[in-house]
Amino acid sequence: MQNLLHNLNPEQLAAVTLPPQNALILAGAGSGKTRVLTTRIAWLIQTGQVSPAGVLAVTFTNKAAKEMLARLSAMLPINTRGMWVGTFHGLCNRLLRTHYRDAALPQTFQILDSQDQLSVIKRLLKANNVDDEKYPAKNLMYFINNNKDQGLRAKDVDAYDATERKMVELYDLYDEQCQREGVVDFAELLLRTYELLSRNQPLREHYQLRFRHILVDEFQDTNDLQYKWLKLMSGHGSAAGGALFAVGDDDQSIYAFRGANVGNMSAFEREFQVKNLIKLEQNYRSHGHILDAANMLISNNSRRLGKNLRTDAGHGEQVRVYEASSDLQEAQWIIEESKSLINEGTSRSEIAVLYRSNAQSRVIEHALFSAGIPYHVYGGLRYFQRAEVKHAIAYLQLMDNPHNDSAFLRVVNFPARGIGARTIEQLQGAAEQYGISLYAAVPYMVGKAGTSLGGFVKMVEGMRFETQQMALPELVRIVLDGSGLLQHYQGEKEGADRVENLEQMVSAATQFVSEEGYGQGAPAHLGPQAQAQAGNAIVSADGVEIIDADAPLATVMSPLSAFLSHASLEAGDNQAQAGQEALQLMTVHSAKGLEFDNVFITGLEEGLFPHESSSKEDGGVEEERRLMYVAITRARQRLYMCFSQTRMLHGQTRYNMKSRFFDELPEESLKWLSPKVQSHWFANKKSAWDEAPLAGSDNAIARQIAQKSSGGSGWRIGESVAHAKFGEGVIVNLEGSGSNCRAQINFGNVGMKVLDLSVAKLDRL
Ligand code: ATP
Ligand code: MG
Repeated sequence: MQNLLHNLNPEQLAAVTLPPQNALILAGAGSGKTRVLTTRIAWLIQTGQVSPAGVLAVTFTNKAAKEMLARLSAMLPINTRGMWVGTFHGLCNRLLRTHYRDAALPQTFQILDSQDQLSVIKRLLKANNVDDEKYPAKNLMYFINNNKDQGLRAKDVDAYDATERKMVELYDLYDEQCQREGVVDFAELLLRTYELLSRNQPLREHYQLRFRHILVDEFQDTNDLQYKWLKLMSGHGSAAGGALFAVGDDDQSIYAFRGANVGNMSAFEREFQVKNLIKLEQNYRSHGHILDAANMLISNNSRRLGKNLRTDAGHGEQVRVYEASSDLQEAQWIIEESKSLINEGTSRSEIAVLYRSNAQSRVIEHALFSAGIPYHVYGGLRYFQRAEVKHAIAYLQLMDNPHNDSAFLRVVNFPARGIGARTIEQLQGAAEQYGISLYAAVPYMVGKAGTSLGGFVKMVEGMRFETQQMALPELVRIVLDGSGLLQHYQGEKEGADRVENLEQMVSAATQFVSEEGYGQGAPAHLGPQAQAQAGNAIVSADGVEIIDADAPLATVMSPLSAFLSHASLEAGDNQAQAGQEALQLMTVHSAKGLEFDNVFITGLEEGLFPHESSSKEDGGVEEERRLMYVAITRARQRLYMCFSQTRMLHGQTRYNMKSRFFDELPEESLKWLSPKVQSHWFANKKSAWDEAPLAGSDNAIARQIAQKSSGGSGWRIGESVAHAKFGEGVIVNLEGSGSNCRAQINFGNVGMKVLDLSVAKLDRL
């Protein structure tokens, strides 16, 4: 057995070998938090303090969970398949599958990804004749998820006005509809598990006694409900319960918009009376200049728990900064630099291109494609979200649970079988009248509608019967064929790709059953009870029978159910896959926790990064700065930053100022590849305005700076101007020179605009 501890520094060692008490490891990027967490699990098991079944580890993505399991099996001679390592969603899914009855769910409940959820909501609004201008589906979805993330059901929400009361009412109807259809959304997975365990004491105690060690990575991004869930699992405030070991970095909290609450870190310290607070300050990832840039940038944030990072790796190369004249040129520069890296022997998968917003990837992709450089984009439409794949999944869902109305509606007339909107309306009417699913309402239909719908049901039933004893991959093949999907796309002019995607599903199913340990021949429909009887039932202290949600999932879910859960959970996971020989393109959000030798941060412009939406929210710019901190700290050896004077976004050309973040980076760590243009922000304390004696009565120097920064355009900062469309305003900043001069102008009511002075028509006032 190898020595797990010899590669750790003293603080890491202390963290890994803490006694079984609650602990918080607060540490900056690249300081080994994830490594410490994984090593601690291995150490606890190796020293016999806990069995693999007594560990519960929560990661942020499925990919991180897989990686953790792979590392554990490299460190320990055990089979990690049964271990509880996963995301909140994955772990809750497993619990609900086992205790579906206690959770009042059908055995074959299905998971809605966000796309599905939105369509359920649209359907609900329509069925209830709700004005979707007044109550847009997206807003309602946000409202519902937001409340669920806080642990609030409709009855718990305080409504202050008529609009809110209506939203609450719709929230309730939505929950009812989901229950009827046997579907749960992502937030519901957590809330349902939370409610189940709060209500059911024997079950709760069973798990509290079982999990002696609960470990959570990326703790700074937990939301309120997740924190409550952890409290419950760890038996906070009760005699039972294990130790909670949380690792996180307040400077990397970047999911506030999804309800994450960085306050959970201090709440945890307080409520769990954490005696063991360990800080790790040695960074093992990045070279000095990169780290200096990260440290200085984040020091501009006010509310921090406070820590710094140092490295022994040496300064390394400076951060290369490039100003492009257009987004096309920016992409070209990325390609030139990447090519020279690749020529020097860098692996393509060690080059990451990060952007703030998904829309930026199109231009970069196009340039990479033209240059013949393989690349991989994350966060785009993933396999399981493509239309043809969703159709196939809907058929599979009907095999598993025909009462899933969303699945029914998606394919009842796809491929077309002459079932029109009127027929569906009648069917919906009948379903509503009897309070049953659409599928169950079909026998109530008469006439032509009855015949065509009956034909559909017959087809579905036929396939169900035919596949009774089949293994999953075979079942998938039958469904692709029997549903008419394959034929449909084969007949389409541009359908070749889609046919290929559909056929890939058979391989996906084959891979899935072997990875999950089902065995290739296991019948896809095999019910869980049959397996549970094979020795998995246990009896709690007070005689209540509990089926333990033990892994592999094979013990609690049929291969088909498990495959469908996998498809939904995978679709919601935006994380990158490593190891491909391709450039890695992704948003900064999805780069969290990852590392690459070379990183490009693109589009560093005011309005884009920091994003314009952030200026409207309290603390918005601080969140953007944390995002920038995450971006910088992904790089091991080389970091590149770029911005562009103009950019086509959402069909409009924007004229941009470079990001204020440049003013927050140490000058000596940057290498400007294009002539650096001065900019002076009134708002920024660290700008040249502070250094110039602006406050004095003689502000000649200030004027000089202002004139210099006008780049010979003839305009001055502070000057009042008029614009035909935007009205009157004041120039607050000037940048660039000659024909590239841009002005940032505050137009009062209309807000801040950046205009290209060679094009914009301005009058002096
Ligand atoms: P992030 O905040 O980005 O999630 P992290 O704190 O989780 O970062 P890790 O990913 O665990 O950091 O570690 C960063 C890198 O440093 C990894 O490549 C890891 O293997 C390496 N590392 C961590 N600790 C040590 C050590 N003691 N000796 C050598 N390398 C180390
Ligand atoms: Mg980490």
